Amino acid sequence: MRPIKAQISASALQHNLNVVKQHAPESKIMAVVKANAYGHGLIGVARALNAADGFAVLDIAEAIDLREAGFAQTILLLEGVFHEADLQLAASFAVDIVVHNEAQVAMLLRQRLLRPINVHVKMDTGMHRLGFSPDTYLAAVQQLKSCQNVRDLVLMTHFATADQPQGVALPLQQFKSIARQLPYAQSLANSAAILLHPDTCADWVRPGIMLYGASPVSGVLAQHFNLKPAMRLTSEIIAIQTLAAGESAGYGNRFTATRQTRLGIVACGYADGYPRHAGQYPNEAYPFGLPIAVNGSLTQTLGRVSMDMLFCDLTDIPAAQIGAPVELWGDLVPVDTVAEMAGTVGYELLCAVSSRVPIAMVA
Ligand SMILES: *Cc1c(COP(=O)(O)O)cnc(C)c1O
Repeated sequence: MRPIKAQISASALQHNLNVVKQHAPESKIMAVVKANAYGHGLIGVARALNAADGFAVLDIAEAIDLREAGFAQTILLLEGVFHEADLQLAASFAVDIVVHNEAQVAMLLRQRLLRPINVHVKMDTGMHRLGFSPDTYLAAVQQLKSCQNVRDLVLMTHFATADQPQGVALPLQQFKSIARQLPYAQSLANSAAILLHPDTCADWVRPGIMLYGASPVSGVLAQHFNLKPAMRLTSEIIAIQTLAAGESAGYGNRFTATRQTRLGIVACGYADGYPRHAGQYPNEAYPFGLPIAVNGSLTQTLGRVSMDMLFCDLTDIPAAQIGAPVELWGDLVPVDTVAEMAGTVGYELLCAVSSRVPIAMVA
């Protein structure tokens, strides 16, 4: 077996859930576990987060997986159903749905469901992606309220700029001015809103990235919010080369040694989800590549990332031999630092860990 694996810490997930609770002590917590729990493994994460009040996913198949694994909490489809057939399934597995457009309302009005389901009605407050505009929202709520397939309603919105300097004042006011006329529960906050805008924490909060111990705010590390990384992506050194000054390594000979360089070859490449655009945005600490830890010491990647392997600098880690442990990201190397230097966000790197990387839950 290749030595690469993603170790998922149940205690880090639980710690981060408690951080959510500290920020939103009055709110029920809908743990967002879409995209295979942001790459961490749906069922293992849900078990670790069993204290959550609900789980939010994208696809009815994921919702059914959770029910069949025994989870009795609220389960929400964040984009609702895509086709009528899924509506009957949602009803039979007692799965809540988002309703964000007129076609979904029409679907609900047309069918006769086995039993009524809970609907989270989404208002578009400036994202302009999903949701009813504020001026059509009340009418949609009225229609749904009178539909025999609908049990409880939850009023919901999603912020476009919770992590930005402009904040959420305008969309929040837009939402509240309508929601306050209605006697239903409210659900607004994602991770950035939970951490930065306590006034958005209502009956429900919907944390995603913060549960996994990565930061929703670019330029601010998760550690600053007292979050712990849930994933350690680890592998091993599988070969060592010594380059003389002037010799090059890797595809395109992208790296050329300026001094005698001890080069470690790591069993991790872009087919595992490691960003190939490593080293595009060098900084002073890591002039050639991205941060990586070998034998617990920080160093950097070198040269071009290949499909199954990458290079790192072992010149100053002479004790590292073949088999030495490598951390691609986790406790020593924040995933957000790797992401920022590769021109992306931690979300993308975590979700992109590929299915060939085995996931191991650890305490
Ligand atoms: C993904 C998602 C979230 C979670 O967002 P984070 O930034 O990961 O906390 C919350 N609400 C909705 C509607 C989402 O799609």
